[in-house]
Amino acid sequence: MNHEVIDGVPVLWAEAPGPLEAALLFGCGARDESFRTLGVTHLVEHLAMGTLPRLHHEHNASVGLTTTEFTCSGRPEQVVEFLGLVCRALGALPLERIEREAGVLAAEGGMSADPVTGELLSHRYGVQGVGLAAYQGPGPDRIPVEAVRETLARYFHAGNAVLVLTGPPPAGLRLPLPSGERPPRGATQPVLRGGAAWYQENVPSPGLALHGDLDDDALFLAVEVLANRLRETVRHQHGLSYDVGRDTVFVGPGQGERTLVLDAREGQDQRVAELLWAETVRLARDGMSEQELAEELAGVREAFQDPRSTPFELREAAAESLFGGDYRDADTRLDSLTRVTPDGARQALAQALRTAVLVVPCGTEPDVRQSDGTPLPKYSCGGGGQRLPAAGRTFRPPLLARLFSSNARRIRLVVDEAGLWMGHPDGTVCHVRYDEVVGVETDGPSRVVFGRNSCFIPVVSDLFPDAAPAVAAIDAAVPESLRYPVSAFRPTE
Ligand SMILES: [Zn+2]
Repeated sequence: MNHEVIDGVPVLWAEAPGPLEAALLFGCGARDESFRTLGVTHLVEHLAMGTLPRLHHEHNASVGLTTTEFTCSGRPEQVVEFLGLVCRALGALPLERIEREAGVLAAEGGMSADPVTGELLSHRYGVQGVGLAAYQGPGPDRIPVEAVRETLARYFHAGNAVLVLTGPPPAGLRLPLPSGERPPRGATQPVLRGGAAWYQENVPSPGLALHGDLDDDALFLAVEVLANRLRETVRHQHGLSYDVGRDTVFVGPGQGERTLVLDAREGQDQRVAELLWAETVRLARDGMSEQELAEELAGVREAFQDPRSTPFELREAAAESLFGGDYRDADTRLDSLTRVTPDGARQALAQALRTAVLVVPCGTEPDVRQSDGTPLPKYSCGGGGQRLPAAGRTFRPPLLARLFSSNARRIRLVVDEAGLWMGHPDGTVCHVRYDEVVGVETDGPSRVVFGRNSCFIPVVSDLFPDAAPAVAAIDAAVPESLRYPVSAFRPTE
């Protein structure tokens, strides 16, 4: 891999077959946003791409959880032109086009992660950082123009960019980006919920998240073996599932999530979730054979030695350089993988199992047990033990609703000086403290209050017609910058 610097931007390149491919990466993604500004990076990307003339070679742009990239492939002079146009656009973004691009974003409706992985991240990290993956936020038409300016100034400059190329930099290549300082990144975000548990959520299929060091080769191989076993059992033996998806999410140096997502045939979510969990526990307890490990290693070696993996390797190196990690080239990594033993892999999985979170679609009640046979705890809001406060003002649904619906009879909204509580018909209690509010959607006399802990409290007039004092308390306690009118693109949920 070759290193150069052009106009202050590090350039990493290596020869690969095919036309020249370029990816201009910025160390900015959905995890750098907040609930209130969700989608702002995507808006920046659209505003920049919207300035391009019609180009006849392949080009694209995308926003992930950690990075934004502008990519193209073609003849060297086409690559030079595209990169020059993108850099100049980022230095002079047409902010007057925000409204139009917001409509385009609403139509596109893209998410920065797989929906099951996104939900698992939100469970673990709350409504912040990578946990934002599960959310749409206030909507593209509610992104403040000030947030667009701040995101541009903070992240989209030469100091926070890396260019990767699948060949030497072509003659005349310039990267005329504004200059800037690499943004300081705080310590790793706190893990809100650590211990192993399962929970129900509105997801399309079951999924599992394991917390660990993404550079831990023993854990990497253990998860590969696990995925293969799941393909063997869930797919080939039982025919319950078509795909065993895997995802890795970088959270900070030395920390990340590995997720496994299994699609399930109609009506088979429970069995698929039980098999997913049982195979994970079994592998962490009983381990794997030398042969199983060798199989996975052979697959990895094949992938590393494929010349088509060069663009992927270049991006890995670029990400490490943006976020202060140590890039290990394919040979170094293979060498380290070869030294993983079956028991080392088993131990790594057993360690990660302590943080395992299993999500299942709502209504699914899997029988899942820990390695000692005891049931895996079920997570619910407030830990299942939270009670509504005795002091505080209580609101209930209208009398007529309470007469006809036992659910309405059980619903309570309680407001005190610290925040809001909501008692649900099933006995769970959601709680949002005022100092943990990440957004308040306003719609006439109604408010929906979103908390950093993933709870949201609908103080809506249909449900609580007499809640005007609660609305007044919310408006007084939550800063105006966090309140926004409901998006014109979406009805209140
Ligand atoms: Zn809740």
